Amino acid sequence: MPILVIAEHDNVSIKGATLCTVTAATKLGEEVHLLVAGEKADAVAQEAACIVGVSKVLYADDACLANGLAENLAAQVIALAEGYSHILFPATANGKNVAPRVAAKLDVAQISEITNVVSSDTFERPIYAGNAIATVQSTDAVKVISVRATGFDAAAASGGNAIVESAPAVTANDRSSFVSRQITESDRPELTAAKIIVSGGRALGASDKFREVLTPLADKLGAALGASRAAVDAGYAPNDWQVGQTGKIVAPELYVACGISGAIQHLAGMKDSKVIVAINSDPEAPIFSVADYGLVEDLFTAVPDLCGAL
Ligand code: FAD
Repeated sequence: MPILVIAEHDNVSIKGATLCTVTAATKLGEEVHLLVAGEKADAVAQEAACIVGVSKVLYADDACLANGLAENLAAQVIALAEGYSHILFPATANGKNVAPRVAAKLDVAQISEITNVVSSDTFERPIYAGNAIATVQSTDAVKVISVRATGFDAAAASGGNAIVESAPAVTANDRSSFVSRQITESDRPELTAAKIIVSGGRALGASDKFREVLTPLADKLGAALGASRAAVDAGYAPNDWQVGQTGKIVAPELYVACGISGAIQHLAGMKDSKVIVAINSDPEAPIFSVADYGLVEDLFTAVPDLCGAL
């Protein structure tokens, strides 16, 4: 039976987590179909058809699918679910909003945030904030799975040649409707897609210091900015910068942690980064236990020095 992957997109382009979800799907060894549900998202469907590993793109086009409203998207997935053994979502905020609805309607248990495919019914997923890996087996007829993007490499975005097939769109539900969206405009890469992240902790002491001290380093490196929960809770950094167990899970090429102690909940969100650099004035800070390079120094001296040297 083929596998259905639900694409995440903004009607203009595909989000990177979809590519990692396709890789997870290909590990199941069956044909992979990709659902693009949106409005006037023809360009996305064409982009989806080029992803290596995808054999068919199902394109559902309707105004009620324009904004990824969970109720409508879940109904669309359920309408197409028959004939699929596995339905995979990226474990993003959007995926986590839709997957449980689909699992509940299909009366199966969701398998959350897998980081490895052992076999068609057995998967690995982190538990206890990533300190243990559980191997879980599902006997459900249909497996509804969310995929942690950092656990899988991205499938190649070009080189594939899938067919694009129109799928009948569902009608809008009458209980919820899209009202508005506030989007933060930024020239920086998106946190979960960034190759380099410069992250700050409580030690920064003020939002001005994030701007004065960390932003120049992030600019030099072309990096996204991140933060610990303590920094976010104190109002030094916006909520969507939070990295960790209750924030975003990231695995960039380079993660620079400035004035972050390395609490287990923060490590849960970044310890899979390829290279970790920690700047902390306390040599005993736990962040040094995961750091590839550690600098025991005052960040207010070290970061401008580093920036000047780049
Ligand atoms: P602190 O722990 O206060 O560390 C500040 C560090 O800065 C210290 O190591 C200190 O030595 C260093 N420092 C101080 N001054 C300087 C200086 N001038 N130069 C250099 N270094 C300096 N946290 C997250 O980050 N993400 C999460 O998603 C998250 N989820 C959580 C979920 C739960 C259920 C709970 C209970 C907690 C969660 N936390 C999370 C909070 C977490 O436990 C820590 O409280 C938080 O990560 C600490 O942030 P911090 O490292 O910035 O602050």
